[in-house]
Amino acid sequence: MASFTLHGIPVSRGIAIGRAHLLTPAALDVTHYLIGQELVEAEVLRLQQAIEAVRTELKTLWRDLPKDAPTELRAFIDVHVMILADPLLSEAPLEIIRTRHYNAEWALVTQIDELSAQFDEIEDVYLRERKADILQVAERVIKVLTGSAQQMPKVVGIDEIEAQMVVVAHDISPADMLQFRESAFVGFVTDVGGQNSHTAIVARSLDIPAAVGMSQASSLIEQDDWLIIDGDAGVVIANPSPLVLAQYRERQQEKQRIRKKLNKLKKTRAITRDGTFITLEANIELPADCAMALEAGAVGIGLFRSEFLFMGRGDQNRLPSENEQFEQYKRAVIAMKGRPVTIRTLDIGADKPLDVLEHTALNPALGMRAIRYCLAEPLMFLTQLRAILRASGFGPIKLLIPMLAHAFEIDQTLAMLEQAKAQLREEKVLFDEELEVGAMIEVPAAALSLPMFLKRLDFLSIGTNDLIQYTLAIDRVDYEVAHLYNPLHPAVLQLIAMTIEAGKKAGIPVAVCGEMAGDAKFTKLLLGMGLREFSMHPSQLLAVKQEILNSDLPLLTAQTRKILRIAEPAVIIQAVQQLQAM
Ligand code: PEP
Ligand code: MG
Repeated sequence: MASFTLHGIPVSRGIAIGRAHLLTPAALDVTHYLIGQELVEAEVLRLQQAIEAVRTELKTLWRDLPKDAPTELRAFIDVHVMILADPLLSEAPLEIIRTRHYNAEWALVTQIDELSAQFDEIEDVYLRERKADILQVAERVIKVLTGSAQQMPKVVGIDEIEAQMVVVAHDISPADMLQFRESAFVGFVTDVGGQNSHTAIVARSLDIPAAVGMSQASSLIEQDDWLIIDGDAGVVIANPSPLVLAQYRERQQEKQRIRKKLNKLKKTRAITRDGTFITLEANIELPADCAMALEAGAVGIGLFRSEFLFMGRGDQNRLPSENEQFEQYKRAVIAMKGRPVTIRTLDIGADKPLDVLEHTALNPALGMRAIRYCLAEPLMFLTQLRAILRASGFGPIKLLIPMLAHAFEIDQTLAMLEQAKAQLREEKVLFDEELEVGAMIEVPAAALSLPMFLKRLDFLSIGTNDLIQYTLAIDRVDYEVAHLYNPLHPAVLQLIAMTIEAGKKAGIPVAVCGEMAGDAKFTKLLLGMGLREFSMHPSQLLAVKQEILNSDLPLLTAQTRKILRIAEPAVIIQAVQQLQAM
């Protein structure tokens, strides 16, 4: 068996070694035959029953999700339920059976082909991803019609090595990912998908090595091929030589050893060699994640992405009420036992759509998103502000506002907060009168107009994910431009450094809560820029802490000043690597 290597996009770190388990490609290749007039209604019924069976299947999947399943999974299953209920899928094919007398499978595929063609004409990436969802739903219906079930890797009776399977597919639906979790798979590779595609998000939260955007993987890799996924590099090696295999096994064991060693740092305070304490906080999506944050030794929550309370609400096609939100915020505050919880107000839009919204934006990343949406829906925003304020009566909360770019947006937000406070005072509800309010710095315009933020707010938090997206004009979810996503671009570094410096001068705390904060490659660089507050996914916290323990701030500060003067990107990369080794 010839060995070959494929390159794609790394989405989840680590090394996985196992045998390929190929998922059968799209089952949309179906038999075609015509139905006699007298059997048409029976064929219609057959399709209706298959659709109903899939609805039940999805609902069962939703209901049986384990408690610790990533939140996104519920949202993904909901999307599939909604697609299935759409008349374009649930009714149009019935009409095709009635008018053209096609068999059920053929009618469904005809309709899907038509929809696909329409999707192809829209160049919008987000919608393109929805096309994959539609195909996945259609495949489920066809599987029921044809009686062929997806073949899952079975674990029973296989020895441990044999059971290490790597799933290879053209695309994987997040709902299917869940079933893989129950089985023996150790990583996954797909032909399509971007760094922030739904499946990639699930893989990251499951902590499974993965690479996507491998274009030909599912046609080049054969069933049972030995595969190595290098999730750090986004590389897949098929049928490696015994030497390469041994090297990767060694690297894998080394990573496990490092992980074990890092676990010993859980209770160690994050203090640099010269004695400066660095605040390490956690990013969470739901109050239940607080347990993970505490376990990793986080001293607070630096980013609670509250939009996850609004997404994936199953059949409840409405927004969470004030009380529902209050209960959730209170849960997080109580779970953190006196440590601060930074709640970010609803950051909806772009790749995080709300079920109840119509999405018509031509370019969602530049459209109605986050604070823009909240200010356009004052009642909804006021409800959230009241819920957060009420929870602040139970422990320390900070309020974080996403995507601010204009002074009037800050002023309107603060005015609405005052309105919420006045209402609660009137109702004699206790809340924190001194609640701190901060801004996400994630639009270049914000980083370039810091005085207007510093004058009005209590703290800043740099969202590097969006700051990079908007500075470099690349959509975070578009895999075709993923190679342009560069945290070390001189423009990005200048904006981050300026923000940290301006905060320091004004005596206003600045944190970083984007992915850069959790990437140990950048810890020393950020420290050198003056950053003293990091917030990241709990799984990254110990690796960052280790860097901090090995940091000498005066040295890093001097070296980083030099890096910020370098104009040549390749030289910056080299200098940051040297900095990391210091
Ligand atoms: C960011 O933009 O860096 C950020 C933390 O927010 P999100 O990733 O939720 O957009
Ligand atoms: Mg953001």
